[in-house]
Amino acid sequence: MSSPFDRDLLRKKADELESASLQETLAWAWEKFGERAAIGTSFQGAGLVVMHTAYTHGFRFPVFTIDTGLLFPETLALKAEVESRFGITIESLIPEQTVDEQSAELGPDLWRSKPDLCCSLRKVIPLQKKLATLDMWITGLRRQQNETRENTRIAELYHFDVLRDQYIVKLNPLAGWSREAVQSYIAEHNLPTNALAARGYRSIGCQPCTRPVADGDNERAGRWTGFDKSECGIHTFLGGNI
Ligand code: SF4
Repeated sequence: MSSPFDRDLLRKKADELESASLQETLAWAWEKFGERAAIGTSFQGAGLVVMHTAYTHGFRFPVFTIDTGLLFPETLALKAEVESRFGITIESLIPEQTVDEQSAELGPDLWRSKPDLCCSLRKVIPLQKKLATLDMWITGLRRQQNETRENTRIAELYHFDVLRDQYIVKLNPLAGWSREAVQSYIAEHNLPTNALAARGYRSIGCQPCTRPVADGDNERAGRWTGFDKSECGIHTFLGGNI
């Protein structure tokens, strides 16, 4: 399949979107891609802001999350609350093996011995399968989150499956937002949040790889403590924006 996107037009649009509002950005995505665009969320604040703005303006993007089988009960409770608040069903992407099956084949606690492999099996591969069905993936990435995200653009184009010659537009409509701006939007609109936030957790992923952080720490400092790892791979496997 060749690219359904005109790269020059998309680059021009990407430049325009850098100064567009969140509503304008989502309106363009909805008009251009409709339900071929989907919001991927792990229920951090930014994803909730994106969902709320989209649904408030009638952009009914489908939503998915990656359920590794190792999420906190508080995160699963938040998922149910978000579904109820917005009247939607959020698709859970599930790894091929259960945690027990993975342990039986590759050893217990793979996240301790080989976290990159664990993330690949439990997050990246399920996501890749989903992206193969879409034209656009909408994320809650923000440049401020850590140094690996500081060059994030609002709209990016990736040639994500070289074998099948497949492209995906990645939309990061909150790339330029601060943590404070997200929090104030959430407070203003009374959006639900993860109960763990009140206990010092900021970026919340799988239970074995998430710790609370101290005030002033990098937002993602509580992920993969003790490992030279700051990303699970879902935002890095795509390679470079083309
Ligand atoms: S975050 Fe940890 S437990 Fe979750 S998939 Fe990655 S290594 Fe495994």
